[in-house]
Amino acid sequence: VKEKEHINLAFVGHVDHGKSTLAGHVLLKAGAIPEKKFGNGEERFRKVFDTLKAEQDGGITIDLAHQKFSTKKYDYTVVDCPGHRDFVKNMITGASQADAAVLVVAANDGVMPQTKEHVFLSRTLGINQLIVAINKIDLVDYSQEKFDEVKDEVSRLIQNVGFNPDDVDFIPLSAFEGDNIKEISENTPWYKGNTLIDAFDSLSAPEKPTDLPLRIPIQDVYSITGVGTVPVGRVETGVMKINEDVIFEPAGVSGKVTSIEMHHEQYEAAEPGDNIGFNVRGVGKNDIMRGDVAGHVNDAPAVAKEFKAQIVVLQHPGVITVGYTPVFHCHTSQVACTFVELIQKLNPSTGEVEQENPDFLKTGDAAIVKVKPTKPMCIENTTEIPQMGRFAVRDMGQTVAAGLCLEVTDKK
Ligand code: GDP
Repeated sequence: VKEKEHINLAFVGHVDHGKSTLAGHVLLKAGAIPEKKFGNGEERFRKVFDTLKAEQDGGITIDLAHQKFSTKKYDYTVVDCPGHRDFVKNMITGASQADAAVLVVAANDGVMPQTKEHVFLSRTLGINQLIVAINKIDLVDYSQEKFDEVKDEVSRLIQNVGFNPDDVDFIPLSAFEGDNIKEISENTPWYKGNTLIDAFDSLSAPEKPTDLPLRIPIQDVYSITGVGTVPVGRVETGVMKINEDVIFEPAGVSGKVTSIEMHHEQYEAAEPGDNIGFNVRGVGKNDIMRGDVAGHVNDAPAVAKEFKAQIVVLQHPGVITVGYTPVFHCHTSQVACTFVELIQKLNPSTGEVEQENPDFLKTGDAAIVKVKPTKPMCIENTTEIPQMGRFAVRDMGQTVAAGLCLEVTDKK
């Protein structure tokens, strides 16, 4: 049996516009949640879904994030929504990189501040496929005029950050009533487009980045009797084969790959997405650690002494100024980095330059900055290796900002 291709979906949009309700109803329609959890009819959906959410709040979790469902064409995983605490961090560290975003906009509210923020953030985080769900269409009496109005507003917004609205499905739907989720609704006879599920199936599955340079961020390093040192990690990009020479940076140690293991089986090669343990001749347990990155000797991972980045400030109680030194989480590494220059402040919904050399940045701001790690760290230009250029900025137990590396300006 050939495995179906897989797509990670993120539900984004302003609070209360219906992200969770929609994700829940999709799972129900796709048969991923047993019908009996919801009673027989969809009219019971509202009540049961509220119960489900209440259970969640009470800690008896039916967690919508990380739920899986399948269609004829693909397998899907619903990854966290922003607002859920660790969404940004998970996306950036690769735990749940979304391949496509479902932007949920309530028809009665239209574009709201978080709608803009999430569109910009999605783009910044490298999501380049989008579906626009114009939700709560029941609340505007299934009005085509209202739909067109919101569609125009959202089109302008997404065009600003570089999506082509002509390539995007805009779907009038009700996460409550189920209109246009799996079946075309009689309530919107004027709508001639895809249902939401059909829109999912017209997305493109991500291609494995096998042509990019080899990068394996190290998660752990084990010492196994009879085998030796076994670094463990997920291949982000490129292909690694037995007998090739690899180097770990910033550690700077190298050697020949002697074995590759996955799920207790030996392999000749590893490719993107593979979680592997491997053995490199001459590399000892204390030579390398979590946060190091393995690559081929002739195309080694970049070690930054300084880099230029684009960031979005998500939630910061004060202001960010030159000298601020929070922890940057990039792939598996965590390194305190100092903001050494605030170069430009950008309009968070368009990316246009608003101010040169701002004195400070606050919540909601987007900016180009220069950053100096307090110790060498591996990070790459996002244009060259997107998987290795994203980072989350954490301080005081929360993700205060997210961003991507535009250029490594000073390398080891
Ligand atoms: P989230 O914060 O974006 O996840 O929004 P929720 O899914 O929690 O929904 C917010 C509120 O809107 C809840 O009270 C839902 O019951 C309600 N809601 C969600 N979708 C619809 C819809 O299609 N129609 C109507 N009338 N209400 C909805």
